[in-house]
Amino acid sequence: DHQRAWDSRFEPALTRDAERIEVVGNIGSAAEAQAVVDHGGEGVGLLRTEFLFLGRDSAPDEDEQYAEYRAMIEALNGFPLIIRTLDIGGDKQVPYLNLQAEDNPFLGVRGIRLCLREEALFRTQLRAIYRASRHGPVKIMFPMVGLLEELRQARALAESARIEVGADPVDLGIMIEVPSAVALADAFAQEADFFSIGTNDLTQYTLAMDRMHPALAAQADALHPAVLRMIQLTCEAAARHGRWVGVCGGVAAEPLAACILAGLGVNELSMNAAAIPAVKLALRQARLSDCRTLARQALTRTTAAEVQALDLQADAGEA
Ligand code: PEP
Ligand code: MG
Repeated sequence: DHQRAWDSRFEPALTRDAERIEVVGNIGSAAEAQAVVDHGGEGVGLLRTEFLFLGRDSAPDEDEQYAEYRAMIEALNGFPLIIRTLDIGGDKQVPYLNLQAEDNPFLGVRGIRLCLREEALFRTQLRAIYRASRHGPVKIMFPMVGLLEELRQARALAESARIEVGADPVDLGIMIEVPSAVALADAFAQEADFFSIGTNDLTQYTLAMDRMHPALAAQADALHPAVLRMIQLTCEAAARHGRWVGVCGGVAAEPLAACILAGLGVNELSMNAAAIPAVKLALRQARLSDCRTLARQALTRTTAAEVQALDLQADAGEA
């Protein structure tokens, strides 16, 4: 199947009942944008911009960021690029930003919380993104949003940066990776243009298990039914408001998970480039109606092991 997946990688992920799932890539550089295209990716669902800020002595300035984003947009050759604004803190530290030491960095000033406190840093990035957006389709998403005020402030800063550089509007979405954003998903869906579920962090915060903790790694499973219910709630709220939903956490790269997620109503899956051909093939071999049955079955399970035991090929009659 490996060869078959590779040979068919440029075909869309159209299920046997003709439903389209977008399969896109996660990247941290322009070289990776090219790799996504080469592996059949239909765009980038997550650019982790923090990689532009790591391993150096100072933050990249506006022109440098603009040049990087533009190179990625050009590598994608018309496919969309979703740029996530800086997600520093937690597991990703940047020495030159002189961040406060924290007892619980994953519960501290990370992601959008940091950008709203470091307005100059945020404004520089937003200006660079909007300048680059003239060269191809771009969307912006904010990480770690848990409060409505955060989205409103981030949107307002984005809008003012946009006007400063004279760019056209782009879609502004949020990562869904904090349980409060799930609980208020209807409210967020009214003010965000799309959702992208970060299952790495959503699993961490739902199960209260540090994602870096070696002793918990086996249990911190994004297919745990508690996490699947969070995804279900997110998809239902998005659908009520006509918004699309992606998943850009690591679980999107697993064929069984891809079908469960599609069955829950996820429209776009974003993963490392190497995983794209096999996920596209798995989706082309599935029926979305069977994926919905699989998702319903998964939601009736009460442990991650029971979800993992579900069989992608199983007769859809069980439920
Ligand atoms: C996630 O949390 O699932 C995610 C995609 O973001 P990151 O892994 O960069 O925190
Ligand atoms: Mg995350």
